[in-house]
Amino acid sequence: MFMRIDKLQAELPQPKQANPNAAAALQELLGGKYGEMSTLGNYMFQSFNFRNKTKLRPFYDLVSCIFAEELGHVELVSNGVAMLNNGPGDETPDVDVSKAPFEEMKDVRLAGSFFSNGGGAMPVNSNAMSWNADMVTTTGNLIFDLLHNFHLECGARLHKLRVYESLTEPTGREVCGYLLVRGSVHAHAYALALKKLTGVAIEQMLPTPNIPLDRIPECQKYLESGSHRRLYRFGSPDYGAAAGIWSNDEVALPSDPPGNLEVVDGPPDGGAMPELVGNYGAFAPDYAPEEMFEIAERLYTKSR
Ligand code: MN
Ligand code: MN
Repeated sequence: MFMRIDKLQAELPQPKQANPNAAAALQELLGGKYGEMSTLGNYMFQSFNFRNKTKLRPFYDLVSCIFAEELGHVELVSNGVAMLNNGPGDETPDVDVSKAPFEEMKDVRLAGSFFSNGGGAMPVNSNAMSWNADMVTTTGNLIFDLLHNFHLECGARLHKLRVYESLTEPTGREVCGYLLVRGSVHAHAYALALKKLTGVAIEQMLPTPNIPLDRIPECQKYLESGSHRRLYRFGSPDYGAAAGIWSNDEVALPSDPPGNLEVVDGPPDGGAMPELVGNYGAFAPDYAPEEMFEIAERLYTKSR
């Protein structure tokens, strides 16, 4: 079962203006081959399909913890995409539809993100290609699945770095900075899992691509707070055996700030869920906004 927390895993700065093409670039991290939909889908089905869960408890728990985190990454990137598509927002109630108020939207790269999705995120890549089940590998062979996951995290790091290099505005860069630190944890975790099983010190290949996190300003506060050494259980009393792999005598990668690895019981501190304001000219949320707000407020008061 799952529990929901109405926060993001990282605090995202509100963009000063809408930047739909930056949002399109960020879509690669959501629905791209190595995006969050892929890491989520892989670990989720591997976790559901896991054989000998009891006998292989530390490995099952590790995949399960990382799977839960990836769901929050899908949430984080989706919010980043929507924030960049919409900017700070403009709740002008009376928009003259006859004056082509959204004329420039026909020229943005992912025009469908406005026309069909009202500025929201979708499980597609930066060219609007749909994410699909072909991106999921779940073979039933633990070594093969872990090796695939290691490859996936290195691939995710590769396209996060490239997207980061293409962005100038802070919201998208923050998404990349946070996810680069967390992706580094996941690559390291799968490498350690493979090492425990096979004796091969695969973590010596990290970081791949070979750029240490200290070269990226947006990563620094996460490194200083020790995020690169932590794996989260999100408040669940279960899945603690992941500490057999991500803990004990295992330490941070040589290029990161030193310290022991640890499994944390709770979630990361995270940040507030961003408020996406209405866009009345685009009929979102539409019907009669003021009336709906009033109804919602009455219901909220009643619930207290
Ligand atoms: Mn991720
Ligand atoms: Mn990951």
